[in-house]
Amino acid sequence: MRDTVTTRTTLDDGAGEAPEEPPNRGPLALSIAPLPRSPAAVFAAPAPEDYSLPRNRFLRTSRRTRSFRRAFFPEVADQDWNDWRWQCRNRLRRAADLERMLSLSPHERAALEGGGSLLPVGITPYYLSLVSPDDPRHPLRRAVIPTTAEFQRSPGESDDPLSEDSQSPVPGLVHRYPDRVLLLASDFCSTYCRYCTRSRVVGHGTIHPNASRLEEAFDYIRASPSVRDVLLSGGDPLSLSDEKLDWILGNLRSIPHVEMIRIGSKVPAVLPQRVTPQLCRTLRRHHPLWLSLHFTHPEECTPETHRACAMLADAGIPLGSQTVLLRGINDDAETMKTLMHRLLMMRVRPYYLYQCDPLSGSAHFRTPVEKGLEIIRALRGFTTGYAVPTYVIDAPGGGGKIPLMPDAVIGRDGDSLLLRNHEDKIFRYPDPKPCASD
Ligand code: SF4
Repeated sequence: MRDTVTTRTTLDDGAGEAPEEPPNRGPLALSIAPLPRSPAAVFAAPAPEDYSLPRNRFLRTSRRTRSFRRAFFPEVADQDWNDWRWQCRNRLRRAADLERMLSLSPHERAALEGGGSLLPVGITPYYLSLVSPDDPRHPLRRAVIPTTAEFQRSPGESDDPLSEDSQSPVPGLVHRYPDRVLLLASDFCSTYCRYCTRSRVVGHGTIHPNASRLEEAFDYIRASPSVRDVLLSGGDPLSLSDEKLDWILGNLRSIPHVEMIRIGSKVPAVLPQRVTPQLCRTLRRHHPLWLSLHFTHPEECTPETHRACAMLADAGIPLGSQTVLLRGINDDAETMKTLMHRLLMMRVRPYYLYQCDPLSGSAHFRTPVEKGLEIIRALRGFTTGYAVPTYVIDAPGGGGKIPLMPDAVIGRDGDSLLLRNHEDKIFRYPDPKPCASD
C-alpha cells in the first residue's frame, strides 16, 4: 500500500494547483469596483425571505446575488458571470480580497492571514454572493470562511480520519469495500468547505488529473473483477473539462465488470454555472451514472441551483444528496427539514446525513451524536419518507459507514416484537420465535 498524498499544514496560495484545472489568472483577474457603501448597507435591503426558496422557481437569480453583482462586479457581463471558468478564475482566496466585500471578524482575519490550516481558501464570487457580509455566524459563511478555531487540534482528531491513505493501493484510489473503489479525479474544488474530510489532499496540488496516474488507477480496476462500482470524487470531478471527464468516464465504462459510476460533487451548490448543456450531453453518454450532490443548508437552493439540478435530472441522472451535520450551520430539525424538502423539490433524493468526521481542527463543527438522532426522530414519520436521509458515522480508522437509528425495537413479549413509533407509542408485531426445526 502506498500513501496517496502529501499532507501540508499551510494555507495554500494556489501555486501548486493542477495545471489542467481552470486557469487561475490571479485571485481577481478583473478589477473589482471600489466599495461603494458599507457591506451592511449593501445588503440591508433584502428581507429575510430573500434567503429562502424563491417563490418563482424560474427566476434567473436571487435578489441577493443581483445586489452583490451590482456592488462588486458591476462591469462584468452576464456572459462572464455565467461562465464557470470565469467564476473559477475569480475565486476569492485572500483576506485583502474578502475584506472588500465582507466585514471580517478578528478570528476570520487572523485565520486568513495567519495560515496554519490544513485547507486552502477559495470561494466562487457566486457563492460569496449568498454569504452574509456582516454576520460571521451566518451558516454559509461559517462553511467557507476559516476561523482560528481550525488551528485547534482536539483529542481523537486526525488529518486522515477515515484512514484512506492506508487503503490506497495506487495513488488517488481508495479500495475499502470489496466491490467499490473511490477514485480521486483531482484535488481541485472551486469552493473549499472548511470541514472537508479530505483537507489533507484537497487544494494542495498533489492529485492531478494526469493521464499516467489515472491509467494506473484504470489498470488496477481492470485487474480487480470484484469492483462493480466506481465513485469518482476528489476534489470536485465536475470542475474538470468536458473532454477530460469524457475520457475518464469512457475509460471506466470500457471495463466490463464496472456496472455503475457515481460522481460526488458540490458543483450545483457552489458553481451551478458549470452545469451546461454540453456537460449534460457528456455525462449522459456514460449511463448508468449517478450523482451524489453535497448540500449543507437551504440557502444554497437558489434559482441557479434549481436550474442546474433540473438539467442534470433531465439528462436521466439520478440525483442523491449528502449533508454533513454541522454545529451552528444545520444542526436543528427545522433547518434540516427545510433543506430536505428543498432538495426533493429540486429532484434530489436526500441520501446520507453524515456525523462530522473527527478531522483535525473540526471541534467547532462537530455536534453530539444525540443531536443527529434528535433530528432523525423529528423527520421520520413527520415528513415524506423520501425526505429522511440515513444518518451515518463513517467509522474512524476506515471501518466504513455505520447507520444510526433511533431505537425502534424496544423488546419482545412472547411471540410479539415491541416497537416504538414516531409518536412514542408502543405497538406489537406478531413475530413468533423460530422453532428449532425451522
Ligand atoms: S466540495 Fe467536497 S471535496 Fe471539495 S472542499 Fe467541499 S467537501 Fe471537500
